[in-house]
Amino acid sequence: MSAPKAIISDFGGVLTSPLLESFAAVQDQTGIPFDEVGRAMAAIAERNGGVNPLFQLEKGEMSEVDFLDLISDELEGKLGHRPEMHRFSEVYFEALQPNEPMIDLMHELRDSGLRMAMLTNNVREWEPRWRSMLPVDEIFELVVDSAFVGMRKPEPGIYELTLERLAGPSAGECLFIDDIAINCEAAEELGIRTVHYRDPEQAIGEIREAVSGAGSD
Ligand SMILES: [Mg+2]
Repeated sequence: MSAPKAIISDFGGVLTSPLLESFAAVQDQTGIPFDEVGRAMAAIAERNGGVNPLFQLEKGEMSEVDFLDLISDELEGKLGHRPEMHRFSEVYFEALQPNEPMIDLMHELRDSGLRMAMLTNNVREWEPRWRSMLPVDEIFELVVDSAFVGMRKPEPGIYELTLERLAGPSAGECLFIDDIAINCEAAEELGIRTVHYRDPEQAIGEIREAVSGAGSD
């Protein structure tokens, strides 16, 4: 298989420490078990025609404040008190660390002449926080952020938009990296090659193999 011409990388969990560590920090500091938050989101979704509020948040259809209020309202009935959710992003980002070996690799791939894009499901209000964690614009010529384009992974449209904005490499000439399997599967459906990130060593090995042109799926 020929070497890819472009890299499309996820942000959270790929260029950062594992997100579970950040969710654990929020759980420790707020005292709210995270499966309780998951159940609250599912209950809200059920009343709202199956629309998950997290997806609305990530698509920029709901503000962070409104999202946290909604979750607090839902949890209040179950927990018997109104949980303090306003420090969520502060605690979450305090626990989130840059994944230096992966960021170094991204620099190296850019320097080797590959086109570089980031495709992230994110929260509009979090942009200054996540951008401060790495030199985004030095590495990536393109950032497609769900909260600003009204679509989120794994919707095909957001991958198509990324390819359109890269304006050049075909789907088969792109290598997509993400820590969530369904996001990789959706990319593969469109003919984009993928590396499913599990840990730095595994992912860096697979990415190096792919960019050398030796990779085969
Ligand atoms: Mg991720």
